[in-house]
Amino acid sequence: MRVHEFQAREMLANAGVQVPSGGVAVTVDEAVTAATHIFSSGNSIAVVKAQVHAGGRGKAGFVKVCKNIEEVRTAATFMLSNRMTSPQTPPEGLEVRRLLVAAGVDIQKEFYVAVLTDRATRRNMLIASAEGGVEIEHVAETRPEAILKQPLDSQLGLHPYMARKMAFELGFKGKAIAQATDALLKLAKVFVEKDATMAEINPLVLTMPDAKNTDGRVMAIDAKFTFDDNALFRHPAVAALFDAQEENPAEIKANEFGLSYVALDGSIGCLVNGAGLAMSTMDIIKLHGGEPANFLDVGGSASEEAVTEAFRIIISDSRVKGILVNIFGGIMQCDRIARAIISAAKTVGFQVPLVVRLEGTNVVEARKLLEAAKKEIPMMQTASDLTDAAMKIIAATK
Ligand code: GDP
Ligand code: MN
Repeated sequence: MRVHEFQAREMLANAGVQVPSGGVAVTVDEAVTAATHIFSSGNSIAVVKAQVHAGGRGKAGFVKVCKNIEEVRTAATFMLSNRMTSPQTPPEGLEVRRLLVAAGVDIQKEFYVAVLTDRATRRNMLIASAEGGVEIEHVAETRPEAILKQPLDSQLGLHPYMARKMAFELGFKGKAIAQATDALLKLAKVFVEKDATMAEINPLVLTMPDAKNTDGRVMAIDAKFTFDDNALFRHPAVAALFDAQEENPAEIKANEFGLSYVALDGSIGCLVNGAGLAMSTMDIIKLHGGEPANFLDVGGSASEEAVTEAFRIIISDSRVKGILVNIFGGIMQCDRIARAIISAAKTVGFQVPLVVRLEGTNVVEARKLLEAAKKEIPMMQTASDLTDAAMKIIAATK
């Protein structure tokens, strides 16, 4: 589960990390009010930031550093009336419903720091770079040696000596070393305590020195957290931050019916039972030159109604040019799927080719049902096995 930047910043602030203050606004007027507070409490800059579940906002023009109220008004108006598109959004972009208006800081240097679960080494890992900011993806691609890594202790998390070593390697000097060490330790602590899968601060900044802070201050000015869905039951306060409006509506709908659905970019919709079979179905589609439009596991005990809903979700995706049904009936009975196909054909209607491969419990009855319904569902073909099914749906959609 993802949360918004303002929510992640609040968690960091609660953990003791230095975060510039700010307020959330849903209208231009609210943004102006928030900025007025910021300017009147002695800050010379206010930053207006779109709150969407995607990064790359800076380059897209959805993070604006403003020097006066007029600039805030212009930035807020622009962000609330345009969709944001970045390499991390769907092509049609995202609607911006909320803004964060935060006190701006004078930046001396930007760093990247994150704690995440590293699957390759099967450890939680602190990742950091002295070249943080909006170009971090480019740095990671072209100069991987500029990305520093420190595995966390599996029992004790990030030790103070590890954090201090990282602060030195990142090049912090003077009083900023202790501040950076402290920020890293607190970030790692939040990550572990809240069962996050990623806790990223990009950028963690060193501010310009001032009279009070002669070595500058270390502050988090952007934060992106994701949490382990399977651990949310332990964190009701985190679970409460779920924002359905930021999620794919099809995925939400699927969830209501107990279906596991993940939208992908291809053109072949898949309806499968069991996560393993769903994965291998996607593999075999790719093997034969197709691209899956989704991962959809109807599970073992989905009702006819839920399976009909699954078809509805697949069909509602305009990218879907064909549907492959691959069911191995164990607990799921094939005739239930057959009935759902027939019912979906009646209530939803199939405009695209459909290939059905059924095997297992009640398959004979299922085949009879489909055979009898063939006239009503002319775009349906049956397949004898998985390879046959993949080849047929790819041929039908090419
Ligand atoms: P992202 O592009 O979605 O990751 O949004 P960020 O919040 O990271 O902001 C993008 C960039 O805007 C940062 O890397 C900074 O260079 C700049 N920026 C953000 N906040 C401030 C600020 O308070 N002061 C200054 N000077 N620049 C800022
Ligand atoms: Mn950022």
